[in-house]
Amino acid sequence: DVADLPGVPEWLPDHLRDDGIEELYPPQAEAVEAGVTEGENLVASIPTASGKTLIAELAMLSSVARGGKALYIVPLRALASEKQADFEEFEQYGLDIGVSTGNYESEGGWLADKDIVVATSEKVDSLVRNDAPWIEDLTCVVTDEVHLVDDGERGPTLEVTLAKLRRLNPDLQTVALSATIGNAEALATWLDAGLVDSDWRPIDLQKGVHYGQALHLEDGSQQRLSVQNNEKQTAAIVRDTLEDDGSTLVFVNSRRNAEAAAGRLANTVRPHLSTEERDQLADIAEEIRDVSDTETSDDLADAVADGAAFHHAGLSRGHRELVEDAFRDRLVKVVCATPTLAAGVNTPSRRVVVRDWRRYDGSAGGMAPLSVLEVHQMMGRAGRPGLDPYGEAVLIASSHDEVDELFERYVWADPEPVRSKLAAEPALRTHILATVASGFARSRKGLLEFLEQTLYASQTDDSGQLERVVDDVLTYLQRNDFLEIEAGELDATSLGHTVSRLYLDPMSAAEIVDGLRDWERGASDSTSASGSPADAQAEPPADSGFTTASELAEDADESDADRDPDDISALGLYHLVSRTPDMYQLYLRSGDREEYEMELFEREEELLGPTPSEFEEGRFEDWLSALKTARLLEDWATEVDEATITERYGVGPGDIRGKVETAQWLLGAAESLASEVDLDAARAISEARIRVEHGVREELVDLAGVRGVGRKRARRLFQAGITDRAQLRDADKAVVLAALRGRRKTAENVLENAGHRDPSMEGVEPAPDVSVDLN
Ligand code: ADP
Repeated sequence: DVADLPGVPEWLPDHLRDDGIEELYPPQAEAVEAGVTEGENLVASIPTASGKTLIAELAMLSSVARGGKALYIVPLRALASEKQADFEEFEQYGLDIGVSTGNYESEGGWLADKDIVVATSEKVDSLVRNDAPWIEDLTCVVTDEVHLVDDGERGPTLEVTLAKLRRLNPDLQTVALSATIGNAEALATWLDAGLVDSDWRPIDLQKGVHYGQALHLEDGSQQRLSVQNNEKQTAAIVRDTLEDDGSTLVFVNSRRNAEAAAGRLANTVRPHLSTEERDQLADIAEEIRDVSDTETSDDLADAVADGAAFHHAGLSRGHRELVEDAFRDRLVKVVCATPTLAAGVNTPSRRVVVRDWRRYDGSAGGMAPLSVLEVHQMMGRAGRPGLDPYGEAVLIASSHDEVDELFERYVWADPEPVRSKLAAEPALRTHILATVASGFARSRKGLLEFLEQTLYASQTDDSGQLERVVDDVLTYLQRNDFLEIEAGELDATSLGHTVSRLYLDPMSAAEIVDGLRDWERGASDSTSASGSPADAQAEPPADSGFTTASELAEDADESDADRDPDDISALGLYHLVSRTPDMYQLYLRSGDREEYEMELFEREEELLGPTPSEFEEGRFEDWLSALKTARLLEDWATEVDEATITERYGVGPGDIRGKVETAQWLLGAAESLASEVDLDAARAISEARIRVEHGVREELVDLAGVRGVGRKRARRLFQAGITDRAQLRDADKAVVLAALRGRRKTAENVLENAGHRDPSMEGVEPAPDVSVDLN
């Protein structure tokens, strides 16, 4: 009973009862018995939707009640806002909640007064690197989805961060929440924690496989579920669920498939909607169109108007929230999602269909099956407690043999064990530098001792492997001037400290520094020789018989002496940051290669550093992908509209934002690095950064920096003759109002932010002679 919880604040039982929680679920009760409200470490490995959040809350609230401070680590930024909303319910009892996700360079001083902080593991890592003093005040840390330590890219950060937090505060209570995994006890051993390992669920789950006209269930029974003429299996399941007034969540393996499936399933859902539902859905579709003016937005709105939707990481946050809410309100009857939705967004539905159980995997060179863990997490979203009698999770088989295969592979299978991915070089490159720079280790021996506290160390028998990689990494860091090793002592150089604080992969930092140096040396003589399609022989240009673009420019320049850093183009800088391992580059589709080879031929002169030879297949390919990415950023920074960009590069609006944010961060870092190594490129870099931040050409940089203005409004104001902030401050209000298309509230806001003496628009009429004809 929630009245009998030791250690929790006295308001909590009533609060829980108001939320309909009278008794703990069995795994929650086990957690309390294991001392989670009394400061004990705990690993809880329990199925999706079985109440992990409450376990986290019990731990954090009791820790705060004892005068402490709690940290909740989320695996994805998108989940931070979900959790924030959950925890903000406690503000009525005087608790302060803070969320911190972006901006890796700050130490987040404002978080010092918060009782509960929500952050991604990358953010926590960066706070530690920047010596955020309040980190030492933490008394409780909760990590959500801790099984992601298995993830090659992000797992090592989580692992090392937990080790550091625990080293800083030996009394820190550590609570790790995980989906059901094969080796939860290994995590408990690593974290020196009690274990709750349970497969209890609040609502029954039946797993099964659909084939032909039947749904085969794990209890051996069969349901008739017939597929009509020309109907796909998924559509038949969605229709069958609708006939019983239920909703379906369909998992597919790519964004494009999610969009296509939603479009098709809209036809299945439409006939089942009531007039009232149609009206409500039409309103939501309008809201979706209001969020952004892109093809994705249009497609989503069209599907939603018919009661179907898609959901993937390329959607903007506004779109995602509208879809999730409409699904929870049971207006949208089917959502086609990529696995992001399974990872923690709380959207249960009567049925879950796992349509694709394979997805493209570059390292496998083709389609590879999903892990049991992932499939079970998706399946776990089936069944809404209190609303459905039980949930059903269905895999789709395309042949009779596949029925058996899917039963063995997923329905009856246990999830895989989780294994540390720390011993990989890219991960260690970053973490070793940070560990040394922030003083966690001062010698090779100390470093190895620190790494002993990781999951990796607790799982491996071959400690030699870790030592070997550590030595390789130390050599790399030393060679690039990030670390010094003297008489066994390790020390970060000033550059190394900067790189660690900036939260850069050292390899990114090296690429940026080398590129900028190359520019300053005017290394054009080496740049033109290789790479361009015309001189694939890599002969010196003088002998090649061709005149390359760079030679022409060189001639015009007349010298290859130091080039003026102010002449570095925005494209050159976007390319520089796009080729670092910290930027997720755009993929070259078929046909792209030729296009970007041409582009490279024309603009090679602007790029920083020598183009790799075409014979270096991998590096040359990367160079072109970086160029494609840089062109997207350049388009954005020359005011090409969002819809054109999404079309041209085959990306979603959310991807543009993602690339822009990463570029902003990396360019900011490049500015710091340039000054660290005395390169005088700050002006060019900062301009490129501000342009990409606001998505504007140079002449609008000042205006677009005024809060509330943005790229489109800045252009309209500019067209109306207001060209900078100072002019806006003293502008004729009638002109401003006309330029902002008569929107008074907006105009007042903008004027106030620009510092106008009297921003009020009362009685002002838009100036008739101002015409702005932008979309
Ligand atoms: P998980 O994080 O494990 O996927 P959640 O913590 O989101 O699952 O819980 C799923 C749902 O169960 C939430 O809506 C939550 O309010 C509800 N819930 C959790 N614990 C209880 C309980 N003891 N009694 C009733 N409902 C509960």
